[in-house]
Amino acid sequence: MNIHEYQAKEILGSYGIPIPRGTVALTSDQVERAAKMMGGRCVIKAQIYAGGRGKAGGVKLVHHPEEAQEFGKELFGRSLVTRQTGPNGLKVRRILVEEAVEIAREFYLSITLDRESSRYILIASTAGGVDIEEVARKNPDKILTHIVNPFTGLRPYQARAVALALGLCGTICEDCVELILNLYRACQEKDCSLIEINPLVVTKAGWLMAMDAKMTFDENAVYRHREYPDMVDYSQLDPLEINAAKYDLSYIKLAGTIGCMVNGAGLAMATLDVLKECGGEPANFLDVGGGATREKVAEAFRIILQDRDVRGIFVNIFGGIMRCDVIAQGIVEAAGAVNCRLPIVVRMDGSQVEAGKILLKESGLNVQIGTSLGDGATRIVRMLKQEEQ
Ligand code: ADP
Repeated sequence: MNIHEYQAKEILGSYGIPIPRGTVALTSDQVERAAKMMGGRCVIKAQIYAGGRGKAGGVKLVHHPEEAQEFGKELFGRSLVTRQTGPNGLKVRRILVEEAVEIAREFYLSITLDRESSRYILIASTAGGVDIEEVARKNPDKILTHIVNPFTGLRPYQARAVALALGLCGTICEDCVELILNLYRACQEKDCSLIEINPLVVTKAGWLMAMDAKMTFDENAVYRHREYPDMVDYSQLDPLEINAAKYDLSYIKLAGTIGCMVNGAGLAMATLDVLKECGGEPANFLDVGGGATREKVAEAFRIILQDRDVRGIFVNIFGGIMRCDVIAQGIVEAAGAVNCRLPIVVRMDGSQVEAGKILLKESGLNVQIGTSLGDGATRIVRMLKQEEQ
């Protein structure tokens, strides 16, 4: 679960981590008023669930409240396309008006879950304010990592080693140690899978400050934090994703044209791989999980049909717990209701498979049955090509 920069900064602030003064604005008039309170000179920052805003024109230093208002007008409602958003971008609905800080040095600092060691890992770099993935590719020696032992927690000596490696000394080094320890505390107590400060800066006045903050909560722990659901900004999420979550379905949007309905994450990955091998491009995948009902399958199919990029649908279900006739009923119900003429290929196996196939064949839909994963993938790619001709 993601939150905005200003929300993450509020949390960091409550853990004693220095952050710039700032106000959130929902209209350009509020942007102007907030800029006035800052004395005119301030930084205007679009709040979207993605980084890379600076390069995409979503962060600007302004000098007068009127300039702030003008920029606010320009930003509100605009879709900001950054290297993290995908081609459609994300709409700006909130703006952070922040004091302009004189920056002397920029660092990178984060704590995230390391899947290899199954532990928190502290990552730091002197190359701050830039794309850390690119630093990892081009200058891996510039990245410092410390794996945290969950039994002892992050130790002060580890934090000190990081602060010294960033080239800090004296009081500011001790401030950095305290900041890192507080960051770890926040990470644990807030059940974060990631807290990233990029850049962490040393100001010209000689203070450490978190200039940006990204915070991701572990979805499995959301139930432990009553305030989290209210923090979600639904305008930043794909409406189909919100709908899928309501029905406990996992929906992931992708860039192609073939909608995929599967059961199980492993089968989903295999389906996408084989589709690609056969020359198809998945538009999404929707995992209905085990033991779905006819209603759930129908809802899943409806969600796929609402994806405007979908030109054809590939259903790949292994009916171990699920009955194939139930799957077929769900498909026929959802597709029949909107008189769907899109090409559909269904590959299913397991319990009640023959009954399921009969239901599909007699449905009048533009449907073919795949005999194997490879056969199904080949068929849907072929059907799509024929449609295009
Ligand atoms: P993003 O990572 O999405 O591009 P950042 O919050 O990192 O957004 O902002 C981009 C850059 O703008 C930062 O690297 C920093 O140099 C500058 N910046 C951000 N906030 C401020 C601020 N309050 N005062 C001065 N400079 C800022």
